[in-house]
Amino acid sequence: MHEPIPYLDLRAQMRPLRQELEAAWARTLDHCSFCLGPDVVQFEKDFAAFCDAAHCVAFNSGTSALHVALRLLDLGPGDEVITTPLTFVATSWAISYVGAKPVYVDVDDATFNLDPRGLERVLTPRTKAVMPVHLYGHPFDVAPIREFCQRHGLPLVEDAAQAHGARYHGRVVGTFGEMSCFSFYPGKNLGAAGEGGALVTNNAALAARARSLREHGATVRYYHDEVGYNYRMEGLQGAVLGIKLKHLNNWNAGRCRVARRYDELLVDTPLRLPREAEGCESAWHLYVVRHPQRDALKQHLEAHGVGCALHYPLPLHLQKCYAHLSYQAGDFPVAEQAARECLSLPIYPELTDAQLERVAAVIQDFFAKPASA
Ligand SMILES: *Cc1c(COP(=O)(O)O)cnc(C)c1O
Repeated sequence: MHEPIPYLDLRAQMRPLRQELEAAWARTLDHCSFCLGPDVVQFEKDFAAFCDAAHCVAFNSGTSALHVALRLLDLGPGDEVITTPLTFVATSWAISYVGAKPVYVDVDDATFNLDPRGLERVLTPRTKAVMPVHLYGHPFDVAPIREFCQRHGLPLVEDAAQAHGARYHGRVVGTFGEMSCFSFYPGKNLGAAGEGGALVTNNAALAARARSLREHGATVRYYHDEVGYNYRMEGLQGAVLGIKLKHLNNWNAGRCRVARRYDELLVDTPLRLPREAEGCESAWHLYVVRHPQRDALKQHLEAHGVGCALHYPLPLHLQKCYAHLSYQAGDFPVAEQAARECLSLPIYPELTDAQLERVAAVIQDFFAKPASA
C-alpha cells in the first residue's frame, strides 16, 4: 500500500519552522501585545514591501479586509459591484455586507478569471466598483479591466486572497487597483496560525481610514468617527506571518516546480491542464485540471489515497444565499462548466517528486481503464 497523499499538508510546512514559531509565541506571551502590537506593525511594513506598495493594513481575515475595502468606497444600498461568479464566496460577501449588489460577469475559459469582454454589457449608472479575483493564484486580465475602470471612473479592488506574489508583466499583484485584499487563512500561499488578512494600497488616506474602521472607527481611543468593526489582527499572527513571509518566495517557487512537473507528467492524458496567460506568473495557489468525467476521476483518486478538491463546485450566482439576485442556470455557461469539470490536485512546496509522480500515475491509471462512467 502507498502512503496517502493529502490534498494539503500544513504539518510539512510547520515542522521546520516549529522552534522559531514557538520562540515568537513565547515573546508574545512576554510582551503581551495580543491585539495588533509591534509584530503586526513590522509585518505590515514587510508585506507592503513584498507587494511594492506604500501601505498594508493587517486584518483578522481576508473577508474583513474585503468588507472594509468596500466601506472605504462608501458603497451602500442601490450600488452595484461587478465581480466574478467563480470564486470563494467571501468576494461577494463584502459586496453584500455593505448592502450593495453583486453583478456577475462570466469567466474566461482559459484562466477562469473574470472575462473583461463581459464588462460593458453589465455596466449601469449604479455600477460603483469592479472587484475581480486573481483566481487560483493566476493574475486576472489586468490591462483591459483597468482600462474599463479608468474609462468609466470606477475604482478597481483586487481580491488577491489566493495570489500573494503572483506577477503580471513582471509586476507583483496588489497595486493595480485602488486597493487589494489578501487572506492569510492557513491554507493560502502565506498562512497564519489561525485567521488573518490584509488590505494593501498606495493611497495614504484610504490606509488611514482602513486603520480606523479596523478598530471601531476610532483614531483616538473612545472617540468614534464612524461605525467601525473589531477587525484587528492578533499579535501572534503578526509574529507568525513575519517569520513565514521570509519563505514566501521560495515556497511560491516550490509550487511552480510542482506545477511544471504536473504539466510534464500529465501532458499526454485527456485532462485540460492550467496554462499561464501571456505575461502572467501564477502564484500557483491551486493546480486545477479539467475533465468532463471529473466526479469519477475524483473518486478514483480518493480511492487510491490521493486527496483532491473542487474550486468551486457551485458558482455564486446559483448559491441559495443569492437566490434573491434571480440569476438562473445557463446565465454564465463558462463558470458553470468550470464548476462541473474542475479538479484541484495537491500542490504545495513540500510535495515530493515521488508524491507527484504517484498522483500522475493514479490519473494515468484512470484513463487507461475502459470508459469509466
Ligand atoms: C480565502 C479567500 C477569501 C477570504 O479570506 P478569509 O481570510 O478566509 O476570510 C476571499 N476571497 C478569496 C478568493 C479567497 O480565496
